[in-house]
Amino acid sequence: MESVTNTRRATRQVRVGQVMVGSSAPVVVQSMTNTDTADAAATAAQCIELAEAGSELVRITVNSPEAAAAVADVRQRLDDAGCDVPLVGDFHFNGERLLRDYPTCAAALAKYRINPGNVGRGASGDDKFAFMIRTAVEYDKPVRIGVNWGSLDPALATRMMDANVRSAAPQSPDAVMREALIVSALESADKAIELGLAPDKIILSCKVSHVQDLINVYRDLGRRCDFPLHLGLTEAGMGSKGIVASSAALGVLLQEGIGDTIRISLTPAPGESRTREVIVAQEILQTMGLRSFTPLVTACPGCGRTTSTVFQELAESIQTYLREQMPIWRLQYPGVEDLKVAVMGCVVNGPGESKLADIGISLPGTGEVPVAPVYIDGRKDVTLKGDGIAEAFKELVATYVQTRYAPGGVKRREAMKTIPIRPL
Ligand code: SF4
Repeated sequence: MESVTNTRRATRQVRVGQVMVGSSAPVVVQSMTNTDTADAAATAAQCIELAEAGSELVRITVNSPEAAAAVADVRQRLDDAGCDVPLVGDFHFNGERLLRDYPTCAAALAKYRINPGNVGRGASGDDKFAFMIRTAVEYDKPVRIGVNWGSLDPALATRMMDANVRSAAPQSPDAVMREALIVSALESADKAIELGLAPDKIILSCKVSHVQDLINVYRDLGRRCDFPLHLGLTEAGMGSKGIVASSAALGVLLQEGIGDTIRISLTPAPGESRTREVIVAQEILQTMGLRSFTPLVTACPGCGRTTSTVFQELAESIQTYLREQMPIWRLQYPGVEDLKVAVMGCVVNGPGESKLADIGISLPGTGEVPVAPVYIDGRKDVTLKGDGIAEAFKELVATYVQTRYAPGGVKRREAMKTIPIRPL
């Protein structure tokens, strides 16, 4: 697959805990908890869940004295569990007070997110912003200056709208608002540098909730600064709409080399795991050929030739199985994240796609003999039949992973011949 990594925009590089963001570093996946941070046990548990799913940074809300008081406890619980994911503190309205009153919070966080639109107005707001930046300098922490369409500084927006009205060539109100977002981020970054924060401690974001606005804003922002950019469609929404809108926006920008860390702001369905946003972020990067996280299953959509649910169940079951194995496989089998698996519904494209994968199965369509040939490294290897096809195929996948990706392993179907495989 052709890679687009060489088109990444040149940026500074920022260290967040042990994670590098920007420049030649891979695009970093991050997520955010939705627990009450004051509940340290629940927050730590969700941080671990997100980190195990692959989140490389986890942001937590720091919105109250109770939350700020709990941050060091959350960090300690993660450390005790062997989870080193860096924590980012999300501050709005009262960040300077919380950082001042809870130095353990200031020390435990790996990065502070500051929203210039929610720091405060006028001289008081300037003082609060200055205090937060000086705290970051004191504790040697990076900062994300995160501007958001929904909380843009109204004084700045009014000033720019008024100037636009007086201009000889007025822009549309939307264009002025997009420019105001960028100006807010860049002016805040300049202020932070004047206050003593090093330029390589700054990440910027200008989040909006519409795809075309996000693309326009980030293209412009990317041209006008060399700070790493945090990318995400804010308030993307629920289900497929949130995923599609985020993928459309981020796909365009990442293809142009814009974006150094991403978050997918999905609204989980009631009871749905928060890890969905991590998986979607990974799948955007992986399907674009930017990074590999977990083996992906190539599956056809099915059609009138697949009249039973066996095919869909197998495709889902294999993808779930691969994802569940990854915490262990990642450690034992370096490179396994690049494994390509195919689950196909019939003879039309089944053998062809299966041969292109590392290991693939072509299930029988309507009217075909009820057998499922398995292809390994491009050649037909074994034919499965009967009720236990799913389990037998998983067994073959596991054997393939062991033979190919174990240190000193071999990428050859021949190696598997030495391991007993049970055709059904
Ligand atoms: S491979 Fe077969 S089952 Fe799958 S979509 Fe194509 S024709 Fe239909």
